[in-house]
Amino acid sequence: MTYTLPDLPYAENALEPFYSAEVLALHHGKHHKAYVDGCNKTLERLADARDKGDYDNIVGLEKALAFNLSGHVLHTLFWQNLSPDGGDKPSGDLAAAIDEHFGSFDAFQAQMTQAVVTVQGSGWGALAWEPLGQRLYVEQIYDHQGNVGQSGQNLLVIDAWEHAYYLQYKNVRPDYVKAIWSIVNWDDVSARFERARTMEF
Ligand code: MN
Repeated sequence: MTYTLPDLPYAENALEPFYSAEVLALHHGKHHKAYVDGCNKTLERLADARDKGDYDNIVGLEKALAFNLSGHVLHTLFWQNLSPDGGDKPSGDLAAAIDEHFGSFDAFQAQMTQAVVTVQGSGWGALAWEPLGQRLYVEQIYDHQGNVGQSGQNLLVIDAWEHAYYLQYKNVRPDYVKAIWSIVNWDDVSARFERARTMEF
């Protein structure tokens, strides 16, 4: 198998009370795993299509690959973006860059919160580094792969799918997003920022 489900970087109950063990177990063990499995299955079907020279299903397979691979990537990033020791605000270079590109941390946080809360249907909010313009920006991702600029390197993502919060927060997505801010692992986000901004386009 090309892709495997990564272990969580903390115990399933480590993010309580902000994120319940029940939701995290289902989200990681069932939902995330489904994207890993879907990714591997789609790669097998693409290999089979190449072997047979039969590309009748190429459109559907490429769409399935984009969806499942992006789902796997985003969830892997989301778990690493969270920590029982997280919360508060970033410091250092990332804090300075957020001030430069958004005006202030509060302005960034308000924009990103709204990007997550207002996703229509299923999607994500993301803080990304855009290497062509050398800028931080917020993206609103649809499903796992739609509505994105092509060069952005995601640094921090917040899942806005109902499976991410409904069992704990019911329909009140803003309360879930507020809780997530309390467990953001800014050390992880800052490390990703330092790596991303060394990229040359
Ligand atoms: Mn999810």
